[in-house]
Amino acid sequence: MTTATLQPSMKLEDFRRIITAYQQATERLKDSHDLLMSEVSRLRAELEAKNQQFERRKRLAALGEMAAGVAHEIRNPLGSIQLYADLLARQLQDEPKKCDLAGKIGKAVRGLDAIVSDMLTFTRVIEANRTPTRFADLVAEAVSEASGRLETSGVTLNLGQIAPALTIDLDPRLFKRVLLNLMLNAADAMADQPITRMLTITAEALSTGHEAGRWRVRVADTGPGIRADVIEKIFHPFFTTKDHGTGLGLAIVHHIVEAHGGTITAANRAEGGAVFAILLP
Ligand code: ADP
Repeated sequence: MTTATLQPSMKLEDFRRIITAYQQATERLKDSHDLLMSEVSRLRAELEAKNQQFERRKRLAALGEMAAGVAHEIRNPLGSIQLYADLLARQLQDEPKKCDLAGKIGKAVRGLDAIVSDMLTFTRVIEANRTPTRFADLVAEAVSEASGRLETSGVTLNLGQIAPALTIDLDPRLFKRVLLNLMLNAADAMADQPITRMLTITAEALSTGHEAGRWRVRVADTGPGIRADVIEKIFHPFFTTKDHGTGLGLAIVHHIVEAHGGTITAANRAEGGAVFAILLP
C-alpha cells in the first residue's frame, strides 16, 4: 500500500505565497477603490457646481428678461430729462443757484443712466470674442481708467508678478470691465483701512493638476475681507452692502467670466483681505 507523503514545509511556503499574493491584490484593490472614490467625489462636486450654475442661469434668465424690459422703458424718459435739464441749465446761466440745481438734476440722471447701462450689460447675452491679449497692457489700461478712484482711496498697486509677455486668450473689451469692477470694489473695501491698502493682481498659466492648460487671474486686496453672510450672495444681481451700490458689479463680472467659459470664486485670504480668483480655459 502506498501512502502520499505530506510535505508540511512546502505547504506552508505555498500558503505564505498565497497569503502574500492575496494581500497584494487587496492593497491594489483598496488603492483603486480609493482612487475611484476620490474621482466619484470630484465628479459629484462638479455635478453639484453645474447644477447650481444651471439653476442660477434659469433664475437670471427670468430676472434678466424683466430687467431688460424695465431698463429699455426707463432709458427713453431718462434721455428726455437729461435733455431738458441741460437746456434749463443753459437758460439759467445768469442765475447761478438755479443753474446749479439744474446741473444736479443732470448729474443724478447720468448716474441713473449708468445703472440702466449696467442692467442692460448684465441682462444681455454676451459673446466673448477671445483674442490673444497681452495681459499686462490690459491691466495698465484698466488701472488708468480707475486711477482717480484708486488714488482717492490711497491704494498701492502690486502688479510686479505679471510677466510682461504673458498673453491670454480673452475678450479685451469685456475683460477690462472685469478688472475695473474688481479693482473699484477693492478700492471701496480698503478705503477705510488704516493699514496698507494694497491691490495685487497676478496672472499665470497653470501647468499641473486638473487645471492644467488654464489661466488663473487673481485680484487680491488688504481690506476687511468678505463677511460670512455676504460671501454666498456676493455674485447675486442687486446684492449690495453699500449705501449707493447697485449690486450689479460682481454680477456683471460673473456674467463676463462665464461668457469666456471660465469660473470665478471669492474668498478671504489667510493674511486678511479678499481675493477673487478667475480660471479661464
Ligand atoms: P456694489 O459694488 O454695487 O455693492 P458688487 O456686485 O460689485 O456691487 O458687490 C457686491 C457686494 O460684495 C459689495 O456691496 C460688498 O459688500 C461685497 N464686496 C465686493 N468686493 C469686495 C471686496 N473686495 N472686499 C469685501 N467685500 C466686497
